[in-house]
Amino acid sequence: MPSPSSSHVVIFPFMAQGHTLPLLYLSKALSRQQIMVTIITTPSNATSIAKTIANHPKISLVEIPFPTIDGLPKDCENTSQLPSMEFHLPFLHATKQLQKPFEQVLQTMLESKTPPICVISDFFLGWTLASCQAFGVPRLVFHGLGILSMAIIKSSWFHAPQLESVSMFDPLDLPGMKLPFTLTRADLPGSTNLPEHDDKFYQFIQEVGEADVKSWGVIVNSFEELEKSHIQAFESFYINGAKAWCLGPLCLYEKMGSDKSTNQDHSCTLTQWLTEQVTPDSVIYVSFGTQADVSDSQLDEVAFALEESGSPFLWVVRSKTWSLPTGLEEKIKNRGLIVREWVNQRQILSHRAIGGFLSHCGWNSVLESVSAGVPILAWPMIAEQSLNAKFIVDGLGAGLSVEGVQNQVSKILVSRQAICEGVEELMGGSKGRIAKERAQALGRVAGRAVQKGGSSHDTLNKLIDQLRVSM
Ligand code: UDP
Repeated sequence: MPSPSSSHVVIFPFMAQGHTLPLLYLSKALSRQQIMVTIITTPSNATSIAKTIANHPKISLVEIPFPTIDGLPKDCENTSQLPSMEFHLPFLHATKQLQKPFEQVLQTMLESKTPPICVISDFFLGWTLASCQAFGVPRLVFHGLGILSMAIIKSSWFHAPQLESVSMFDPLDLPGMKLPFTLTRADLPGSTNLPEHDDKFYQFIQEVGEADVKSWGVIVNSFEELEKSHIQAFESFYINGAKAWCLGPLCLYEKMGSDKSTNQDHSCTLTQWLTEQVTPDSVIYVSFGTQADVSDSQLDEVAFALEESGSPFLWVVRSKTWSLPTGLEEKIKNRGLIVREWVNQRQILSHRAIGGFLSHCGWNSVLESVSAGVPILAWPMIAEQSLNAKFIVDGLGAGLSVEGVQNQVSKILVSRQAICEGVEELMGGSKGRIAKERAQALGRVAGRAVQKGGSSHDTLNKLIDQLRVSM
């Protein structure tokens, strides 16, 4: 068995913030266990990753070139740089061309004194399975989603023929699964809400899904106390007895303030502004993540709603074209802060001034909010976010929903009244208070999970032991 100090793990994240960040946190957790980690990525992603792993001598980076592809904007190596969601599929396909350089790197590492004991690679990089099999290295797959959402998605694909006859808004039953909320087809990810075989995105997902189920194991960014009752259903979709290793919330492995990727001066200004909002739990943090396209007219509605709600707010806006509707700037001047650059979300959520999070319910944001004990005002937009929203609101009781958010099918403008009512209830209503208590209780459990003796901490040690034995 290799000694702990000579164990080496290769991590290959998909090039999207929400996929890369948790794997960086995992890299740091592994390096603290004296494991050498090599992160494989492309040049521009490497530049930003390098800043976050400074001071971690056991983590190194290997760059492989990103291919130039017709139809993809030049120098676009991360989905957050894509001009719109339309480019997502060509981007996913482009990553297949990383296989050859990846294999060359893997070969060199296998011939070194510290050959890797496994490769942890993203679900979207399905072709890494074939490479790992060719070189005899176990592949652990990482999805970046919660267990319940993954199990629902897998089950809905598996049972697609039976489910196709169910109408869009009728409750959906998934064989073998006990759901903590009412699920409808409209909650499922994808434009058609059930896979159709001529859908190109579905074809890609099917391809990577085949590699997924043949992987040696699955790394899950969740913790047992949160999703234990769904682990078995999820694992049942894997062959060869692959196990789901719940290691999260991975964000909690990152020491607060250690993130060197954000502009430190900017972070200080935000912290100072939050500290000036002297009433604890008074500020609502607003962010819709790094992927969803939110129209300018929808952003106007958010701005009016925040103004009407009377709550202080800190709002991260991604749109490059949007500006505050005329007249609003003066009204919100002393009450709200609109930020247009990358913020340290975890740090913001942990500030005592923050009392709620108006969120798109990306899984990382959900976990970060729960970990900080902050209740969510759920406004799901794309992908599996409707499932996350239902889980946090109906399943865990740690959030409320924005009324009028239809689902994945209709893209109706959500009114300022609905948003404003949601903010008011979350920040000052009795339902908001109950959600806050639930979120705080979950935050305490999440914190224990990653401590020595906690479920995720122990699972990480078990995983490392098992990988060492299997080599
Ligand atoms: N994030 C951040 N600062 C920002 C925007 C996003 O730190 O200004 C982080 C956020 O904390 C989370 C990730 O980016 O870890 C977004 O992932 P999530 O799954 O919530 O949503 P996605 O962007 O994938 O839709």
